[in-house]
Amino acid sequence: PETKLPKVGTTIFTVMSQLAAEHGAVNLGQGFPDFAVPERLVEALDKAMRNGLNQYAPSHGLPALREAIAAKAGRCYGHRPDADAEITVTSGASEAIFDAIHAVVRPGDEVIVLDPCYDCYEPAIELAGGIAVHVPLGSEGGDPADFAPDWSRISAAITPRTRMLMINTPHNPSGAMFGVDDIAQLTALLRDTGIVLLSDEVYEHIVFDGARHESVLRHRELRERAFVISSFGKTYHCTGWKVGYCIAPPALTAEFRKVHQYNTFCTFTPAQAAFAEMIGAEPEHYERLGAFYQAKRDRFREQLLTTRLQPLPVPGGYFQLVDYSAVSDLDDAAFCRWLTAEHGVAAIPLSPFYETPPAGQRLARLCFAKNEATLDEAIARLRAL
Ligand code: PMP
Ligand code: GLN
Repeated sequence: PETKLPKVGTTIFTVMSQLAAEHGAVNLGQGFPDFAVPERLVEALDKAMRNGLNQYAPSHGLPALREAIAAKAGRCYGHRPDADAEITVTSGASEAIFDAIHAVVRPGDEVIVLDPCYDCYEPAIELAGGIAVHVPLGSEGGDPADFAPDWSRISAAITPRTRMLMINTPHNPSGAMFGVDDIAQLTALLRDTGIVLLSDEVYEHIVFDGARHESVLRHRELRERAFVISSFGKTYHCTGWKVGYCIAPPALTAEFRKVHQYNTFCTFTPAQAAFAEMIGAEPEHYERLGAFYQAKRDRFREQLLTTRLQPLPVPGGYFQLVDYSAVSDLDDAAFCRWLTAEHGVAAIPLSPFYETPPAGQRLARLCFAKNEATLDEAIARLRAL
């Protein structure tokens, strides 16, 4: 019998982390920080567990955490969602993405995704019986390293069966960010349609050079039709805690919660209590996150210039794309395996983020959410290329 996900193998993040471990490589592949979570957060987690917050949380999330998320959104984006009717806490952004898709996508519905895109989108669409319609970022026939959305291309992909459009800003893997002009075009495109927007904003606080994150929450017309999804994993250096959330208008939230309650019901209660305390007590943490990562980005890029890898611009997020064409003519998957096995630095190829990878693209992704010593060791190895 045919399997349900014939195209799906093992995710590239697992593959490259295993290969990195096998070869003792510096792992700049899978995206995760190698430094400590804020002390206050660890203390708050410890306190929550000792105070007996060890049983199921309310399915929607601890009320104190939903209030903290609402207040933070108000402070950052000038719109305070209703904590009771519009916010649901999930097991990471991954669960929120899965739930949102399953809440609205029916068999035969089309969902537009912009390639390259994060690898969990399409399997969730397929499991819901939907059809992923891949539209490449960048303009037709243009530079494949241009990751700006081309709104006329996206518009051309819309059909009467389009149910959802998925966006991701700041973008994984490229770091590209939507500008106000993109928001204006997106708003015009969706007006008078029934298309639901899913906005993946997990890197919302990791933005550089004074740029502003164009959260969908800032824009009334868009947020009234959107699931806005984020994750504390990126903001608080704890990708393994898997706590995320979804903000959506009441009618969409009601549907979302139907899936969430039977998928996981709720997520890890002590961490919810810890974030509820941390968010309000130390707003400086997320306010300074851009500057914190910008220093890492700048130092890493400067060092990369002493190698034969060519760094692309990084407006946001914690990934650096490099063009390796001066070093090798291997395709990106083979290059990343070779780099890991022979030079001891693990990277992520871009092709798994595409339905049809651009021919001849020679790009790899390096994560710079690392201590200076880790990045220095990686650079020392990359200088040998
Ligand atoms: N979306 C994007 C763009 C991501 O990069 C990630 C995590 N790397 C996720 C979603 C999933 O986040 P979480 O780990 O909170 O499930
Ligand atoms: N989002 C992380 C990345 O892009 C990986 C998450 C995972 O391993 N599933 O590297």
